[in-house]
Amino acid sequence: MFCSNCGHKLNEGEAFCPNCGQKKEDSTNLGSSNQSTVNGSGVVNSKAGTTNTMAILSLVFSVLGLLIAGLPLGIISVCFGATALNHLKSFPEEKGKGLAIAGIALGAFDIIAVVIQLLVLA
Ligand SMILES: [Zn+2]
Repeated sequence: MFCSNCGHKLNEGEAFCPNCGQKKEDSTNLGSSNQSTVNGSGVVNSKAGTTNTMAILSLVFSVLGLLIAGLPLGIISVCFGATALNHLKSFPEEKGKGLAIAGIALGAFDIIAVVIQLLVLA
């Protein structure tokens, strides 16, 4: 990292800039104080209210699986949906639980549909 005051290159262990004496922690506080004008805990809660991307992808792939390649896209959407649900357990303020469940259900349907097709064709 570099000193925020003078731009001098800082080593990991150094608490102060050897060039100008700027304290390392002060430089990070300066950086976050700019963001805290928007929201005190803006960094932590920045994703609150946003819809989980994996949940959206899960539903998109499962719908595509109905139209194109059911087996691979079905598996992908179930994996994405499970990942999204797992993530949403840790970040309950994010949205997309319903999308993830729908993605898993549709993805499973994609897989079952392909299996039924294979059985019928066989
Ligand atoms: Zn410095």
